[in-house]
Amino acid sequence: MAQQEDVFKKIVAHAKEYGFVFPSSEIYDGLSAVYDYGQNGVELKNNIKRYWWEAMTLLHENIVGIDSAIFMHPTIWKASGHVDAFNDPLIDNRDSKKRYRADVLIEDQIAKIDDKITKEVEKARKRFGESFDETMFRQTNARVADLVARREALHERFSQAMNDNNLDELRQIIIDEEIVDPISGTKNWTEVRQFNLMFKTEMGSTADGAMTVYLRPETAQGIFVNYLNVQKTGRMRIPFGIAQIGKAFRNEIVARQFIFRMREFEQMEMQFFVRPGEEMTWFKYWKEWRLRWHKALGLGDEKYRYHDHEKLAHYANAATDIEFQMPFGFKEVEGIHSRTNFDLSQHEKFSGKKIQYFDPELNSSYTPYVIETSIGVDRMFLSVLCSSYEEQKLDGGDSRVVLHLPAALAPVKCAVMPLVRKDGLPELAHEIVDDLKFDFSTHYDEKDSIGKRYRRQDAIGTPFCITVDHQSLEDRTVTLRHRDSMEQERVAIDDLHKIIHGRVSLNSLLRKLK
Ligand code: ATP
Repeated sequence: MAQQEDVFKKIVAHAKEYGFVFPSSEIYDGLSAVYDYGQNGVELKNNIKRYWWEAMTLLHENIVGIDSAIFMHPTIWKASGHVDAFNDPLIDNRDSKKRYRADVLIEDQIAKIDDKITKEVEKARKRFGESFDETMFRQTNARVADLVARREALHERFSQAMNDNNLDELRQIIIDEEIVDPISGTKNWTEVRQFNLMFKTEMGSTADGAMTVYLRPETAQGIFVNYLNVQKTGRMRIPFGIAQIGKAFRNEIVARQFIFRMREFEQMEMQFFVRPGEEMTWFKYWKEWRLRWHKALGLGDEKYRYHDHEKLAHYANAATDIEFQMPFGFKEVEGIHSRTNFDLSQHEKFSGKKIQYFDPELNSSYTPYVIETSIGVDRMFLSVLCSSYEEQKLDGGDSRVVLHLPAALAPVKCAVMPLVRKDGLPELAHEIVDDLKFDFSTHYDEKDSIGKRYRRQDAIGTPFCITVDHQSLEDRTVTLRHRDSMEQERVAIDDLHKIIHGRVSLNSLLRKLK
């Protein structure tokens, strides 16, 4: 674990050193849990967004996009339940003066018991070898049975407390479980309090005073309040979806783990409107399809798992997370929620406008049910970055840091390098750049030794380096170096475009989703 933390620190440092992610306002000592994306980060981020946008809107004829404003009428947040219920239960440790989310402390405790169970099972697997029957062992081993019973009881009590919004009970669980503050090591806890996560600001200044508005904590409501506009003007027929990418803001209390939990972040959300009663079929569809989208990137199928929700949000009747194995454990990257007709009904009630769909096949009107897929761009960015980072030992005692980014997401697709800065090599290299740049993000680099230049491109995840040497002048061939294998091949300049396109285009990634 300590080793994993070290790796994570290195990834954060690497992200800064190579222009991916900078702390916000750094020359003023930063602003907590706010980050800026640098020259390479913005390209990677844009590519992730393009992959999502095109997968959703191009590959699904019945999904269209919108871009709604961040500011919205404040009553929207009353209707959605965010003003009253978008809270985190917080608890402070009096000795360390640190603040924690009470639910997270308890979830971590449950995870610890799960770890113990897994360890027991793994120990037994080693002991029994081939003949090991895991199901049997789980049912019959007394220690495992004890742990499972303890976990279930804790889990049941926790779910109940969360569902009842019972803050005293949450505190009591922390006391009874003897959970200690990881920093002070003490159990000196305060009461648990609710804290609303929305940022408020003021709009306009009139004689009557300014209006309090919120920075949206999710992009979804911008879709709901435009449901009628899009359905009518787009002549959409149910089932259909509306997709949106945009900033969201949450005053996260426990903001940590780099860009995993930020106060300003970006979401890619899609609301899929369906007939009442068909929501579970579509929930299943989107749960599977979204995982396929993740896996197509090739970061490793074993790094994903579903986590079905125990406590459902006030609007949901089914919910699952897609979790990704970060260096600090399996963590939520995307949520898929069956939101019933809660949001549209609430907006109907609060706005007084009829928000219904006339279904010509059923010859009746209803308020559509909604399946939501909601993924954080920054968390996706982090999962791509963490799983791509490798410190590699090379033959001859050398080493390199390489980002094995999925080629379609890499900020730079190819770098063109003249072997030396004379004899007409730079001119030919520029000529190649001037051709490739229309289709691929292409760098020209002539500084330092060729080895150093390769390392620089490895560190930002450039899939191809193209080296122009004296032979190139004679036969118009170049060396094409592959990032992951470091293999080099001699190819004709005229073939470069075709070879690179085959490997780096978003199109080939999207085709995997067929
Ligand atoms: P968590 O439990 O981690 O706070 P959540 O369940 O509140 O997340 P959702 O409201 O379902 O998150 O938001 C959908 C997605 O938005 C999440 O899966 C995540 O990728 C992203 N997201 C939410 N909060 C943040 C944040 N503070 N920083 C970065 N991304 C976030």
